[in-house]
Amino acid sequence: MKYLLTLLLGLSMTAWAQSPVNSNVQKPKNIILLIGDGMGLSQVSSSFYFGEGDSNFARFNNIGLIRTSSSAQPVTDSAAGATAFASGVKTYNGAVGFSNKNKPVPTIVEILSESGYASGVIATSSVVHATPAAFYAHVKSRRIYKMIAEQLVESELDFVAGGGEKFFTQRTDGKNLYEAMRAKGFEIHTDSLPEKVSEKKQLIILAEDGMPKMIDGRGDFLPNSTKLALDYLSKDEDGFFLMVEGSQIDWGGHDNNADYLISEQLDFDKTIGVALDFAETNGETLVIVTADHETGGFTLSAAGDNYFKIQPTFSTGGHSATLIPVFAHGPGSEMFRGIYENSEIFHKMMELLGKK
Ligand code: MG
Ligand code: ZN
Repeated sequence: MKYLLTLLLGLSMTAWAQSPVNSNVQKPKNIILLIGDGMGLSQVSSSFYFGEGDSNFARFNNIGLIRTSSSAQPVTDSAAGATAFASGVKTYNGAVGFSNKNKPVPTIVEILSESGYASGVIATSSVVHATPAAFYAHVKSRRIYKMIAEQLVESELDFVAGGGEKFFTQRTDGKNLYEAMRAKGFEIHTDSLPEKVSEKKQLIILAEDGMPKMIDGRGDFLPNSTKLALDYLSKDEDGFFLMVEGSQIDWGGHDNNADYLISEQLDFDKTIGVALDFAETNGETLVIVTADHETGGFTLSAAGDNYFKIQPTFSTGGHSATLIPVFAHGPGSEMFRGIYENSEIFHKMMELLGKK
């Protein structure tokens, strides 16, 4: 019996490898990809120990693991990690939308726009930071923020929210990219998150660089902008793609600051709830939650030999190479089970949307 089971499993695994999307897999119309920058399994676990009520991570049934190494480094950075998700290629650390052969690679936003999809990116960093940038820009180095901002003006994005005003308006070349965005048909909000938006394309920039930390009073920017984006993008008949980044989970890890990290993690968890609520009502939306890498070598250790208390600890001020969890919900979500490379996330999304 045990042998038969192994044999059957072996057969189905082979069939799976040959034909990734079998006819039984439901196809989504829309995809929401949520990236917790620097979010490893201990970061996810902190949602269960430090959050109020149930974690939204408990709502997922289809769970996998990804290997995150870049083309050149076993320990990736966010630029190579996001390029793997956005374009399906492994590249070197620092590259945004560029292959390891130094060629620009098309992004999911660019590919889907050809079929009329609406698209958006939201981040709690600046919107020109590596993770969001990989979905619309092509630069050899993530640090060229002002060039990335110019590429945002030329991109196919319909909804953009986060920080980064200085890259648009305080430029050494004297350009005012807000004016350029307006000329492209964008409505721009710089004071606060609007409750409702018009049918125009939306640029919402609420900080000079990164958004404030949760512990400094950012409030519900991330869940509320996600809700706003979903209201806006779901009006498109062709479907939509939305990337939402909890950018500062990573920054809390770099700072080895558990309060910073956990508050960002809980904010991201709440945002996942917004995405799942939308998807459950909508019925045609696949929600994927993952991370580019882990940051901080974060662990939920016991406080010495006191097993009644968790004392979060860190083993590095940088990133780690630990495998990263993937959570999927909705049509096609079973495709995200297993252990695979980070770049496969892109290929699975493309297959499910019939673009391969
Ligand atoms: Mg990031
Ligand atoms: Zn980092």
